[in-house]
Amino acid sequence: MPISLLEVYNLLPRTNCKKCETICMGFAAKLISREAKPEDCPLLLEPVYKTNLEKLRILCPSTEKELTGLIIEDDKCTGCGICVVVCEENRMNEDVIYGKGGRYNDELVLRVEGGKVRLVDATKCKRAFDPPEFCRACVDHCPTGAIELVSSS
Ligand code: SF4
Ligand code: SF4
Ligand code: SF4
Repeated sequence: MPISLLEVYNLLPRTNCKKCETICMGFAAKLISREAKPEDCPLLLEPVYKTNLEKLRILCPSTEKELTGLIIEDDKCTGCGICVVVCEENRMNEDVIYGKGGRYNDELVLRVEGGKVRLVDATKCKRAFDPPEFCRACVDHCPTGAIELVSSS
């Protein structure tokens, strides 16, 4: 069944604060078209919207989540970079092995930017391979539980 714009809108904080660079109705449309992910609304990361965020993650999964089953929770990430180093696909890049984080995004799966880790290219994650490889190294080594695995595969 197609997702209704109103259904998504009703799960948003509806303040029209524009912290997501549009108003809530515009953000709802972006979620449906996958141009945005629920975490791009900073208000949804507040504890009071926890249930709404969970519902939106199910209704409008991000492309990264669909490909890998991984969700990074910005509010828990300290930017320590452990996940960047333990990811075998990231370690194909020599810079990562030497602790430099990697110069080019097109050679990386994960990278720390502005103090938070980002899934730079979900297609390079082992979990997005065809057939997928079972890997959860980043999830298991994150000291703050900032990477969540929402798929059982
Ligand atoms: S940041 Fe959230 S609450 Fe603010 S306008 Fe965007 S969707 Fe609405
Ligand atoms: S699941 Fe594995 S391959 Fe994918 S980002 Fe995490 S450590 Fe890297
Ligand atoms: S997701 Fe976890 S391991 Fe990765 S940088 Fe953030 S806190 Fe560190």
